[in-house]
Amino acid sequence: MEPVKFDPKFEPFGQPPDNTERIARLERQVLRERMARIEAEAIAEKGLRDLYESKQRISLLQKITDIANKSNEVHTSLVSALAEICCTLGYDFGNAYLIEGAQQSACACEAWFAEDETDLALLVAASGNASFDRGKGLPGTVLETGRMVWTRDLDSIPGCTRAQQADACGMTSACAFPVRVETEIVAVLEFFARKPIVESPELTWAMQQIGTQLGRVVERQRAWALLQTARHDVLTGLPNRAILAERSAAAFAALPPDGKGLAMVVLDLNGFKAVNDRYGHHYGDQLLTLVATRLGRAVISWQENRIATVKTLLARTGGDEFVVMLQGLVDWPNLASLAEAIHECLSPPFRIGDQSVAVGASVGMATSDDGHDSYDRLLRDADLAMYEAKRLGASRTVSFTPELGLSVRRARELKQEVREAVAKKQFELYYQPIFSLDAEHTLCGFEALLRWNHPTRGVLGPDEFIDCAQDAGLMTALGTWVLRQACETIARMPPLAAARTPPFVSVNVAPEQFLQPNFADIVRGMVMETAISPSRLKIEITENVAIIDAQAAAEVLRTIRAFGVQASLDDFGTGYSSLSYLHNLPLDSLKIDKSFVASIHEPKSVNIIRAIVDLARDIDLVVIAEGIETKHQAQVLAGFGCKQGQGFLFGKPRPEWNVFGLTAA
Ligand code: C2E
Ligand code: MG
Ligand code: MG
Repeated sequence: MEPVKFDPKFEPFGQPPDNTERIARLERQVLRERMARIEAEAIAEKGLRDLYESKQRISLLQKITDIANKSNEVHTSLVSALAEICCTLGYDFGNAYLIEGAQQSACACEAWFAEDETDLALLVAASGNASFDRGKGLPGTVLETGRMVWTRDLDSIPGCTRAQQADACGMTSACAFPVRVETEIVAVLEFFARKPIVESPELTWAMQQIGTQLGRVVERQRAWALLQTARHDVLTGLPNRAILAERSAAAFAALPPDGKGLAMVVLDLNGFKAVNDRYGHHYGDQLLTLVATRLGRAVISWQENRIATVKTLLARTGGDEFVVMLQGLVDWPNLASLAEAIHECLSPPFRIGDQSVAVGASVGMATSDDGHDSYDRLLRDADLAMYEAKRLGASRTVSFTPELGLSVRRARELKQEVREAVAKKQFELYYQPIFSLDAEHTLCGFEALLRWNHPTRGVLGPDEFIDCAQDAGLMTALGTWVLRQACETIARMPPLAAARTPPFVSVNVAPEQFLQPNFADIVRGMVMETAISPSRLKIEITENVAIIDAQAAAEVLRTIRAFGVQASLDDFGTGYSSLSYLHNLPLDSLKIDKSFVASIHEPKSVNIIRAIVDLARDIDLVVIAEGIETKHQAQVLAGFGCKQGQGFLFGKPRPEWNVFGLTAA
C-alpha cells in the first residue's frame, strides 16, 4: 500500500488543531509495519525456498541411494547418478573420473551427462578422455584436498585444461566432489553450470552423502570381482570347484525320490604334463585355455543338438582336470555321446606359437541313480572311472559301476598297504632253481622271485602287488632292495653239490628301475660291496624296456656286461617280440615264456619254440624255458635245443633257508 501523502498547507475547515506530532507518529508506525511485513514475507519466502531445496536434496539423495542399492556395476550407477544430479540441481554437464593406475590419477571413464550434447560438444569432447594427476584440474584438486571444490573461475584452478571450452559453452561455474570407500577416494564427480552454483553447507553435506552412497557401489564391485576371482578359474574363466560344488549340491538336493537326474563327466588330459615339461608353463597355460574353449564349444553344441532339456556346467577343477555336470534326465547312451564329443573336439592338434601339440583325455562318467548319498560321492565315482580310463590307456571313456568302485577301492587300499609293507620289511625273496636240460641236470642258477608276507592274507606272489607297486611309484626302490638281497644271498650261498660251477642268481628288473640313469652304477656298486663275482648276477629284463627306449636299454646292458654281470631277456614271445630287439640288445640268454611250454602239445607253440631256439642259437644266446611242470615238457624242450629250464618239475620258488642244498628232482 502506497503511504499517504500529507500536505501541511491544506485547511478545509479553517485552522485545524495542531496534529503534526500525531501524524508523524502514525506515519512512523505505518512505515514500521510495512518494513515488518516485507521482512516477514522475505523470511517466509526464504523458508519456503529452503524447504523446497532441502526437499529436492532429500529426494536426490533418495534417488542416488536407490541407484546405489540396485547396482553392482560402478559405470552404470555413475551415469545414472550424474543424470539425476544434473537434472535435480540444474547443472548442465556432469562427468565422472575413476582413480586408477600406479599414479592414482583421476581418469575419465566414459560416464557423463550433458543437458544438451550439441551445445556442450566442446566441453564433452575435452572431458571425454581427460585424466588429471593429483593437484591438477578440478578432479586433481579434489584428490589433493580430499574435499569438495567450487569455482566461478576455472582459470584459478591449477592445471585446469578446459577453461576455454567451458567458457565457450557458456559455463559460469563448476564444482567437484569425491566418491569414497571409507577414507579412500575412488572416484571424483564434477559438474559445470551456466547458472552460478551456490555453495552452501547443505549442498556440501548432500554431495558428501552422494559420494558415500556411490562409494558403496565401488566397494561392492570390488568385492564381487574378488569373489569372481575366487570362484572362477583365472586362466580359463571357467567356473571352478567352488561353483561346481555349490551348483551340484543344489542340483543333488533337488533330485526326485528315485535319485535320477544328475550326472558327472570328469576328464583329465593325457600328455599335458609332457607339454608343460617340454615347452614350459607358459605353453601349458595357453594349451589349457585352448582346451577350455574347445570343450566349452563341444559341450554347448552337444547340448543344443541332442537334448535341450539337460542343463550343463563345465568347470575346471584342477591342473588339467575338467568336469561337466549334467542336470536333467541323461542316460548312458547320452553320456557316451558327450564323451565322444569331448574326445572328438580334442583330437585335432593344438597350435601354440610355432608348435603343434596333441593331447587326448581320459573320461570317467557317473550318474546319480546308483544310490549316491551326496553329489560329492557322485563326483568321486566319476573321478574313479576317469582313473580307470587313464589306466586303460589313451583317450578312453569308462562308466562307473559299483563293481568298478569296489575293485578300484581295493586297489587303492592295497597301494597304501604296499607302501607300508616296504617300511615294515614284509617283502622276502624266494628262489627257484634253474637246471640244465641235458641228461646231467646240473644246477645252473636260481631266479629270485619277490614275495610279500602279508600280515593277514599270507604269502602273496608278485601278480597280486607288482602293478600296484608300479602305480605307487615304488618299483625302483623295491627293485633296489631286491637287487641288494640277491647280491647278499649270492655272497653267503654255500657250495651246492648239484652245481658244477657256482650258480648265478637271476634278478627281475622292472623297466623304470632298469632305465633309471644310474642303474649300471647301482649294480656295479652292489657287486663291489658284496664282493661277489659279477658273473653270478644276472639281470632279467623284458622287451618293454626296449620298447620304451631301445638305445638306452642297449647302453645299460653293454655297461653292466662289460664288468661281467649277465643279462637275460624274460618272457620272450609274449610281448611285441620284435626280432630286431634280439639283434640290437647285448644279451646272454633269453627265456621262453611258460605259456608256450604249457601249450607245447599244440603245433603253433611248437613252431614258436623252435623258431626262438633256432634264432637264439644263431646269435649265441642260451635259451632257458620257464614253467616246466612235466618230464615230457623237459624232454621236448631239450630235444629242440633248449639248454636250461625252470619249473615246478625241478622245484618251486622257496625261501632262501629252504633252497640251498637242493638237488635236481
Ligand atoms: P617271471 O620272471 O617270468 O617269473 C617266472 C614265474 O613263473 C614266477 O612267478 C614263477 O613262480 C612262475 N613259475 C615258475 N615255474 C612254474 C611252473 O612250473 N608253473 C607255473 N605255473 N608257474 C611257474 P611269480 O613268482 O608269481 O612271478 C611272476 C612275475 O613277477 C615274474 O615273472 C616277474 O615278471 C615278476 N617278478 C617276480 N619277482 C620280481 C622282482 O623282484 N622284481 C620285478 N620287477 N618283477 C618280479
Ligand atoms: Mg623272470
Ligand atoms: Mg618269465
